[in-house]
Amino acid sequence: MSRIVYLNDRLVPEEQARVSVFDHGLLYGDGVFEGMRAYSGRVFRMQAHLDRLWDSARAIALEIPIGKEALAHAVDETLAANQLPDGYVRLVITRGAGTLGLDPARTKNPQVIIIADTISLYPRELYDRGLRIVTAATQRSHPATLSPRIKSLNYLNNIMAKLEGQQAGCVEALMLNHKGEVAECTADNVFAVRRGIVLTPPPDAGILEGITRGAVMDLAKTAGIDCREATLTRHDLYTADEMFITGTAAEVVPVVEIDGRKIGDGIPGPITKRLAADFHAHVRGG
Ligand code: PMP
Repeated sequence: MSRIVYLNDRLVPEEQARVSVFDHGLLYGDGVFEGMRAYSGRVFRMQAHLDRLWDSARAIALEIPIGKEALAHAVDETLAANQLPDGYVRLVITRGAGTLGLDPARTKNPQVIIIADTISLYPRELYDRGLRIVTAATQRSHPATLSPRIKSLNYLNNIMAKLEGQQAGCVEALMLNHKGEVAECTADNVFAVRRGIVLTPPPDAGILEGITRGAVMDLAKTAGIDCREATLTRHDLYTADEMFITGTAAEVVPVVEIDGRKIGDGIPGPITKRLAADFHAHVRGG
């Protein structure tokens, strides 16, 4: 089905939504993006996504050529034009067309792109049974190279790790940081549960601070479940009672095996199930 795409200041059919081959977003991955989700016509935590987009852009010295409020309005318009009250929204800001050199100063017209579509990352049964994952040899990028806190168009590092996961027959893969600590999965944040306490790596473990991660931490607090940021090693995951991952597209997904070790009893645990249900109710109501 053909989608209506927002490009710069208007909605156009997807066939007309074109960017230059000289765009540095394409040539160098020079740009930033967001992935958000609408439930019953409302984008979940839109402000948090916009704030993260602006932070990412600021970190790469890219000025977004539209205000936050106008962009939020454009997102709503794009969802409505595609008749997608429940949908996934991809926001992309590129550096714009430039020359064949790297020089960002020689680019102009950053492109503002909004795509609304549906997304389904994993088959339904994986939510009930839980995922098997492996640790990738590809590490999360060192904060001194490209900060993992920037949601940039340069995801090749994560794609390399995802390929490793797929080669091992898995749909996700765990990435460690340069110190060998648990960072996150290729597109999802990681949580472990040990003796009733929910643990997740802190931002300085080299992660993207997921909006879903934040929502799940809030829900744990509301449910009276102790939830803390903590440095984790693979040993902590191998010996955890439960594990799950979170992301906008994935929501909350149990993990039942990592690197050939069963986690807990090898089935989704009670705290994971509770938080997945709470998240589901929180975003969908009821
Ligand atoms: N980590 C990475 C590397 C991601 O790309 C994402 C987004 N898919 C996440 C974590 C989860 O973030 P959020 O909950 O904001 O979608």
